Amino acid sequence: MSRINGFVGRRDFIKFFGLSTLSISGISACSSIITTPSTITIPPKNPNPNPISPEEAQRRLQVGNRRFYNQNRQYPNQTKRRLETLSKAQYPYAAILGCADSRVPPELIFDQGLGDLFVVRVAGNVASNMVIGSLEYTTTVLGTQLIVVLGHKNCGAVAAAIKDQPNPGRIGFIVDNIKPALAQEQLRNNDLEINESAIFNNIQYQTERLLKNSSVLGQLVNEERLKIMGAYYDTDTGKVEFIN
Ligand SMILES: [Zn+2]
Repeated sequence: MSRINGFVGRRDFIKFFGLSTLSISGISACSSIITTPSTITIPPKNPNPNPISPEEAQRRLQVGNRRFYNQNRQYPNQTKRRLETLSKAQYPYAAILGCADSRVPPELIFDQGLGDLFVVRVAGNVASNMVIGSLEYTTTVLGTQLIVVLGHKNCGAVAAAIKDQPNPGRIGFIVDNIKPALAQEQLRNNDLEINESAIFNNIQYQTERLLKNSSVLGQLVNEERLKIMGAYYDTDTGKVEFIN
């Protein structure tokens, strides 16, 4: 297997993972979509033929979450017909930047279905450049009008940032991207008891990073075509609290 600067060669990658031509064409199509910020052009109008407002998007999430925690779920948009419709085009009405934590799957906790949510998940809901690129894609190309940065109770990534001890492998990348969100007294806490205010601080910090590091998202917000907000998921009750 050939490696150039640590990257596995494309041919070897195909052989190693046994991917078909079809799969590779999918990867190529996907990777060509994610471009550098300078090449992303913001369409003059929303590409979604039936757009909804950011407020309506938030309302749908709130109503869906209520169904979830009241054990009154509808499992919408999961039929064969929905599948066939979506194979032609997708226009997710909201994007979620959430934690990779197994207890916080957005489609379940908001009781949504196929094609409803554009979900980006990474430990600690960290707004890295890859995350920002994904969110720029859904807002400019798919017409998504609401981004929710979703933190949660008992977040292990925030706990690791509070603990502030050496981590194996690349876990430190996550921790280093959360620590600036924490106040000095939270860092001094230095125990496994997760300070809830630290989780709220991290939600706010990552939300600000989206705007600070993306002129594309900033422009959409300025033109009132996009709303970015934080939310907090309580892993005990299943409730999501939106932070306006
Ligand atoms: Zn987490």
